[in-house]
Amino acid sequence: MQDFRMSLLSTAICGFLLALLPATSLAGSAKNIIIMVPDGMGLADVTAARTIKNGPNGDPLSFETLQHIGYQRSHSANSLVTDSAAAASAWACGEKFNNNEICYHADGRPVRPSILELAKKVGKSAGLVVTDGITEATPAVFGAHVPTRDCRQEIGRQYLETTGVDVLLGGGRKEFNTETPDPCGTKGDLLCSAGKKGYVLVTDREELKKAVAGGSRKILGLFQARGMTPEVERPAASLEPRLPEMTAAALTVLEKDQDGFFLLVEGSLVDKANHRNNYPMQLGEILAFDEAVATVKNWLMTDRKRADTTLLIVVADHETGGFTITGPDSSLPAPGGALETAWTGKGHSAVDTLVWSEGPGSENLARALDNTDIYRVMVEALR
Ligand SMILES: [Zn+2]
Repeated sequence: MQDFRMSLLSTAICGFLLALLPATSLAGSAKNIIIMVPDGMGLADVTAARTIKNGPNGDPLSFETLQHIGYQRSHSANSLVTDSAAAASAWACGEKFNNNEICYHADGRPVRPSILELAKKVGKSAGLVVTDGITEATPAVFGAHVPTRDCRQEIGRQYLETTGVDVLLGGGRKEFNTETPDPCGTKGDLLCSAGKKGYVLVTDREELKKAVAGGSRKILGLFQARGMTPEVERPAASLEPRLPEMTAAALTVLEKDQDGFFLLVEGSLVDKANHRNNYPMQLGEILAFDEAVATVKNWLMTDRKRADTTLLIVVADHETGGFTITGPDSSLPAPGGALETAWTGKGHSAVDTLVWSEGPGSENLARALDNTDIYRVMVEALR
């Protein structure tokens, strides 16, 4: 924490400038696109979270109430079992990539601009909200193009200096000021660069609230050195904002843009929980992710215009751990009761994942899809 405060000081010396995006007009069927990703969540994870929260006959989770349901193939260009980089690159840039690639072909083939870049091009604002490091693979594909997901400093540099992502909330503070170059050769004080580019830097819940209330339009929120604290490990007095709070903050800031916005919200730690075969952690992260979906649903429902002009997609990039539920086999569990669970591994699996959606263009997602189809539907919604 100490060295980050020093970095903030140096950033303050660099100076903060509040920049507003130029207002341009755009005719399109979706003013806003929100894609929400429970990383590594399979269908059995949904059954478990819903059953534990509400019982087998209880209410659905928030994302289960979206109007349309489909499913997607998740394989990458070079593997039936994708990683998060290739999986999210398929959504962001509309074609298959090799594992590790961040909307970038190592063989030099050109790539399309990402859906976030297209949104920015037509005057919209953009945000990335995650619970892992903000420069990890899933958010990276929307705001950067690099040959490997390990180029974390370069990903951060591109967010701030090339793509101009307006709202960045999550962990991964250590990537923003380092003397050791990443595999792309990038190093240095990105916080200084952020200050020069007009970002307000925030490091805890209160600072985030203040920046939002103060009308900041560009916010860099870095709440942990690496990933944020899992729900099951959070102390009651934690100063880290939770995913639903970060989502609400991003909506408040981004909707100030009259041209609309693109927003990614990732429940990043669902994947980590599944890698660890940690069932309580998995439940905590999925239910927190679902609270973030409920936050978006409430935002949509309080204004008919928002609901009519916002494409909302909830989709997992791949399944992790081969999680399943094997019991109890003799009685139905009550809410909060125990389930018998099992895992087939600690890595990603190749099974298809579900796609829940509503809003303009979402009817095209209610079918058997490839992950690259998500890009096409989002691009079409921008027209
Ligand atoms: Zn993933």
